[in-house]
Amino acid sequence: MTKVKSICVFCGASDGKNPQHMENAIAFGKMMAERGITLIYGGGRIGLMGAVADGVMQNGGSVVGIIPAHLDDIEVGHTGLSELIVCKSMHERKVEMFRRSDAFVTLAGGLGSLDEAFEAITLRQLGIHDKPMVFLNALGYWDKCFDMIDAIIDEGFARPSHKNLYTVANTLDEIFEQLAAEPAPRFDPREKLF
Ligand code: AMP
Repeated sequence: MTKVKSICVFCGASDGKNPQHMENAIAFGKMMAERGITLIYGGGRIGLMGAVADGVMQNGGSVVGIIPAHLDDIEVGHTGLSELIVCKSMHERKVEMFRRSDAFVTLAGGLGSLDEAFEAITLRQLGIHDKPMVFLNALGYWDKCFDMIDAIIDEGFARPSHKNLYTVANTLDEIFEQLAAEPAPRFDPREKLF
């Protein structure tokens, strides 16, 4: 695949209970900076979101934050970024984040991260983009989510091949290895579901 120059990272606006998640976010930001990959993210200073941005900025990298005006106070718009774009709505934020990135990575996070990750996956399922999507499953954080996907497939509401829409990394290094690998075959939106 073409070299990934920018990654959109979805992750929690909270710290989470296990400090390992914050440490991973900072370390992932550092690894992005070392590889010259720009971070595209939601623009906040709090939680894992702020940590990954700090990890990039503190190591000389480049960060573009995109935050809706109404969240600027709540998620504390990060003023130390290469660029902070204040947009009008959540939908505008998503469109900008999707448009500006070559790939998606989901670290540990909450319902907002789930929404963003699954939008990236489902738009790929429809053939609207073909950007890779990697979950970091550190500490097995997303295991129950993958169990749910297996249950959905067992019940006949998705195909086993839908699991090719994303990959799962157990370590930070694996994220970059998976992004460097050939992408999964593109989904044909004209294909019948079953
Ligand atoms: P969370 O994973 O819930 O901590 O949220 C992570 C990020 O997702 C935050 O920047 C939220 O503003 C954002 N978010 C929350 N709900 C949504 C949504 N419905 N669509 C897109 N982003 C959201």
